[in-house]
Amino acid sequence: MVADLFVNICIVVSMIFLYMKLRWKSVYEEAYSVKGVLIDGCSGGLMGFILMYFSIQVTEETLLDLRYVPIMLLVLFIGKTPALLGSVLIIISRFFIGVNRSAMYAVAMISILFVGYSILEKLLRNRTDLKTKALYMTLFSNAVVTYFLVILVGEFRVVGPTFVLYWIISSIAGIAAVFLVDYIKKSEYLFSQYETESSRDFLTGLYNVRRFDEVWERSAETIRKNQGALTLLMLDIDHFKTINDTHGHAVGDLILIELSRLMEKSMADEGTVFRKGGEEFAIILPRCDKSKALKLAEKLRFSIEYHDFVISEEDYLKVTVSIGVASYPETTNEIKTMIDKADMALYLSKSLGRNQVSI
Ligand code: GH3
Ligand code: MG
Ligand code: MG
Repeated sequence: MVADLFVNICIVVSMIFLYMKLRWKSVYEEAYSVKGVLIDGCSGGLMGFILMYFSIQVTEETLLDLRYVPIMLLVLFIGKTPALLGSVLIIISRFFIGVNRSAMYAVAMISILFVGYSILEKLLRNRTDLKTKALYMTLFSNAVVTYFLVILVGEFRVVGPTFVLYWIISSIAGIAAVFLVDYIKKSEYLFSQYETESSRDFLTGLYNVRRFDEVWERSAETIRKNQGALTLLMLDIDHFKTINDTHGHAVGDLILIELSRLMEKSMADEGTVFRKGGEEFAIILPRCDKSKALKLAEKLRFSIEYHDFVISEEDYLKVTVSIGVASYPETTNEIKTMIDKADMALYLSKSLGRNQVSI
């Protein structure tokens, strides 16, 4: 008996873990779609079936298990429609295990559980924390399961000791299941947050150097395999130190942010903009040859030169940039020296008087 309930707990834990790992990333986008309802409902149904398959045989025909857990979790975390589908599947699959009086009663039991969870969820929606919700729902489940067991088995004496153990183990399992989902949900969220932040520059929101290295490696690999054109622009703000010194670091930051938006807008679908550090940026232009790249770079330089960088309600600043271009295969036939070549071209723009594009 204890061993069987323990097996049920192990099934709950491992299936929650599997489901969350495979599913959680897309659960919010697909939650209300037919596909989402099917996947989530079937997952719940499958979990219920496995729980019943490994249940405790109380009498010849009556099973005791944690089949309520998937329905409760679906109502709490995902939605009523998948929970309803899950319930229906659990009812149907109960008949695969055996067609008898217990299976008939299971129809009523699962229906009551589903309706009860939906009502509880509504009642508790805004008022209580997860702990209380989990507790109420689990106690409700235990009460319903107990009620049906009593009318099925009839004699309380027979199932008395079973009840005590079931209440203890089921309460622990129900609450633990809710907390496990919540815990994995939060850590998955934090992990995805970390993934996004680790590739973005904090100030400008542009991709950072780390991302630049990855994208550059990938672009270079594509060219090695499939040939084609690839262009790299290096861009550096002219006399940025003077802007900082004259107007303050905060204004310098505003310029960096506004310039970033300008570059992104100017590049649109042509390429990706990265902040390489300080006031230096890189733009990767895949499938872009030399003449097109020069046009794009000149257009960008021009649009920055004529842009008013608003720094206060009545004041704006003028900013210029120097740009270096390296283009494969026209200006260099070696991908691995391209970054250096673009840097050298940028340096050339600076030494020729700034505010220009060199190749
Ligand atoms: P050049 O035309 O030769 O590029 O001159 P420059 O003044 O732009 O070049 P320099 O490399 O001497 O100075 C870059 C300045 O950029 C120095 C640094 O204070 C400033 N800077 C770097 N990162 C930031 C930032 O995040 N915010 C602000 N406000 N300034 C920054
Ligand atoms: Mg500079
Ligand atoms: Mg610089």
